[in-house]
Amino acid sequence: MKYYSLNKEAPNTTFEDAVVRGLAPDKGLYFPESITPLPDSFFETIEQKSNVKIAFEAIKQFVGDEIPEKELKQIINQTLSFDFPIVEFNEQISTLELFHGPTMAFKDVGARFMARCLEYFNKNNSRKVTVLVATSGDTGGAVASGFLNVKGVDVVILYPSGKVSDIQEKQLTTLGQNITALEVHGVFDDCQDMVKQAFVDEELTSKMQLTSANSINIARWLPQLLYFMFAYKQLKSKHKNVVFSVPSGNFGNICAGMVAQKLGLPIKHFIASNNANNVVTNYLKTKDYNPKVSVQTISNAMDVGNPSNFIRIEELHNNDFDDLRENLSSYSFTDDETRGALSEIYSTYNYIADPHGAVGYLGAQKHIHKNPNDHVIFLETAHPTKFLDVVEGVINTEVELPEQIKTVIDKKKISVKTSNYSDLKTFLLDKNN
Ligand SMILES: *Cc1c(COP(=O)(O)O)cnc(C)c1O
Repeated sequence: MKYYSLNKEAPNTTFEDAVVRGLAPDKGLYFPESITPLPDSFFETIEQKSNVKIAFEAIKQFVGDEIPEKELKQIINQTLSFDFPIVEFNEQISTLELFHGPTMAFKDVGARFMARCLEYFNKNNSRKVTVLVATSGDTGGAVASGFLNVKGVDVVILYPSGKVSDIQEKQLTTLGQNITALEVHGVFDDCQDMVKQAFVDEELTSKMQLTSANSINIARWLPQLLYFMFAYKQLKSKHKNVVFSVPSGNFGNICAGMVAQKLGLPIKHFIASNNANNVVTNYLKTKDYNPKVSVQTISNAMDVGNPSNFIRIEELHNNDFDDLRENLSSYSFTDDETRGALSEIYSTYNYIADPHGAVGYLGAQKHIHKNPNDHVIFLETAHPTKFLDVVEGVINTEVELPEQIKTVIDKKKISVKTSNYSDLKTFLLDKNN
């Protein structure tokens, strides 16, 4: 499989090269040259297949022969070592729980897959790769955990000081080994801008191999298409007209869902559920794409003012606005509405959601209101205890901490304070010496 840059000014390249580079030399995002639908029989018998088998069949065309089948199966096996259960609320709404991995956010799957691909590509290579990643909350923890002790890879995580939850901060600042956390005085977009600047800094890139583990990296992004297949597998016999409501920030997850749809998965429609960071909601309303500085909300992993993957979504819809609007709706909700949803989900369904899932639930409600015969699955993208203050404050109940969280909570935070790009650059150059 070859990948091209969406800026169309860089040569097409291999899966390996796209994973190692993260971003194309022309600063464009990589995109697969083709997406070949899976045979009908794949979907007809999907409920009889294991998750690993589904994943292997769905992913292999994107990897091609660059990782031999036996190794790819092993990578997938290790990546998917936990469950992805559906919880049905009623005839119209279900949730897909994507928080059963080691850091209890959906980003675990992408991070683990990417780490293992890099490890495979790096095994005969003496040059170190430095993964540079900006996080609005959950990416950092998932990448830290996924890459911990992976040979030949150093990880540098930039996160906005004071703008991630305590547990999120612990998850990304306490592992040590090959993982370093830079605590940035600023917002997520500042972190993301600094990462982008590093990738195009020739002085840096001539001295070290930098790559990204944000959803701009195809190995982080593409495996997320599996969630939609695992959901369909569980609900196929019960519901037609399946719609997904995806709490969205950088739009990587929802975009991967659209790749699953291109592969033939019968998804009727997508809903991008947003917090107050509503560039896409506004775009679908006005046709005017207007990136903004992000604002802070209680669903902080979606505090993104300029979603990097939106350009891939447009490519998937042939850059046709009407095509896109047919397949995608988007709604934006305030923090008060999100708190209201947390409370409603708890009192009506006795289910404890997290603030991101609650935004997804609100999007699902909007859709059901207009389309009562559809079944909407909203994605629960993080475990509620990752946002303990918010959740316990709303439902007035103590939530029990799962094992994964208990193990980090008493560990000591170690971070490097960082103010601007020049600090980051100095840090990287010193580390490399
Ligand atoms: C990252 C994240 C999101 C947003 O996902 P995107 O792929 O960036 O749109 C939503 N919820 C949680 C909990 C996350 O960690």
